[in-house]
Formats: sequence, structure tokens, C-alpha cells
Amino acid sequence: MEVALVTEELTEVQMKKLLGFQKKKKIEAFQLALAEYRDAIGEWDMTNFQDAGPRWREIGALKCDCGKVLRYQYTVTNRLTAEIHNFGIYHLQAETGFSDQVIRGIGKYLNAADREIEEVEQRLKENWRLTFEIPESLELPDELRSTLNDGLPLSKREEKQLSHLVFEAQRQEWRSLPPQRMPISEYERKSINLFGELDFTNDTKPIGPFDLKESEKAFVIGMLESGCSSSMVIAGELHNAGHYTERFLTGRTKLYPLCVFYMDRLVGEGRAVLIQDFGLQDRMYKLAEIK
Ligand SMILES: [Zn+2]
Repeated sequence: MEVALVTEELTEVQMKKLLGFQKKKKIEAFQLALAEYRDAIGEWDMTNFQDAGPRWREIGALKCDCGKVLRYQYTVTNRLTAEIHNFGIYHLQAETGFSDQVIRGIGKYLNAADREIEEVEQRLKENWRLTFEIPESLELPDELRSTLNDGLPLSKREEKQLSHLVFEAQRQEWRSLPPQRMPISEYERKSINLFGELDFTNDTKPIGPFDLKESEKAFVIGMLESGCSSSMVIAGELHNAGHYTERFLTGRTKLYPLCVFYMDRLVGEGRAVLIQDFGLQDRMYKLAEIK
């Protein structure tokens, strides 16, 4: 039930932060358990948790009420009688006289806290970083904010909680945008019309609803010849070159499925090869080598 923190792999500052976190978590867990069992045990508060450090045996500063020297000492105080118990966790029941059920309950809370402390220690060693950004407008719950402000890694539970909050905030923001202001893809924003304008001279009426015009087909072939393989990029360039305006709500040009349709046909005719399929995201093609 006790996690001995390993100092060697952490800097002094990290160790100090981790010890602070450990203390906070232990007190919090104990406090929650005491509150849950208040009816059975009365008005007890967890009033201190101390770690005498790795040299606890020599120093002998912390003791159980029975006299045993401790590394980790827990202190509970009765709010009404001011009675105080100091103990090591293995003498919890002997010193307090709490029932088996209460002892098991406290153990459950402490185990959960210990798991989080271990995770945070492990993440400190691995130089864990958050992999997503927190929007400035997002109000964080106190617990998360204080962990992040302390420069400590989040536990897995906290990380999950945070990613959920960020996701929810983004979804709300997304919803509040009118459709035409939907962000268009990074590529399309940066597009610089490398491939010039379309040449409409050979254009005939497209045969089917998914057909590109002759000028557009020539443009697609030109891009494939130049080594561009992404149908997303090709469709984006074609959109700009033809001064088209129609987009789906996602911001993607309505030419995209037409380009894919055309390039799939080139594949069917043996003129192109599908290199990679990223599902709805993108499809990569290249021209077949002519033998
Ligand atoms: Zn004892």
C-alpha cells in the first residue's frame, strides 16, 4: 500500500514537486474515505501526511503511536474531541480501532491515489509532455490546473479528463461557426496556383455527372506528371486554377470526388497506380510507367 519514490532518476526540483503531489494525493484520498464512512466512525479529519525521506531509519523523526519508527506517517484528528492518532498505514486499524469495512474502504482510496502517484513519477522520468493544445478559453477544473501549474505530468485519468474537456470545447466552437466559415484545409489556405489557369480550348460537355471536363483532366494529368500524388492537393489546385467556389461543409472542394473518380478510371485503364488510400482523408496516385 506504500509507494517508495525513487530519487536517482529525478532532479531535486522534480523530486520536491513529486513529494508535494504525493502528500496532496494521500491526504485527499484519506479525506474522501473518512467522509464516506463518517456515519460509522465519527468526525475524523486527515490532518497530515509526512515522508521522513530515504534516511528515515537513522533520523527516526516520525513515529507510530506504538513507538515504531516510520518513513510515512499519517495523522488523523477528531473534530469534536481533538483526539489525534499518528500511525504507519500497517497500524491504521490498531491505532484507530476503525472497523474492517472502514479499513478496506480507506485502502481502496489510498490504492487509487498510489497508482496515480506512480504514474506521475513514471511520466516525470519519461519527460512526459501533453500532446495536444489547451484552448485559452477553456476553464480547467482546479485539480487539473494546479497539477499543470506545478509543472507536473498529468496522470492517465487526468489526461483523459482533460482531452475530453478540450474535445468538448472544440466541438462547441465548431458548432457555433456558420458553415461558410468552416476552416478549409491547411493545404488549400496556402495554395499558390503553381499550375496556372485552365485551358478550355478542347472542352466538350462532360459525359456523366462525375466527369471532369477535358481541360480539368489535362490539369490533373499535368499535376501527376509533375510528381504530385495527393488527390486532395490536386483537387485543391484545380479548384483554385478554375476559380471554382463550391465546397462541402468540411471545406473540401466539390471537385475532390470528381478527381478521385477520374484518377480511379486512369488506374482502370492502366495509366495510373493507386499508391496509398487514406480512406476519406486522401488517396495518392502516380502515373504508370510506360514500358
Ligand atoms: Zn503502530
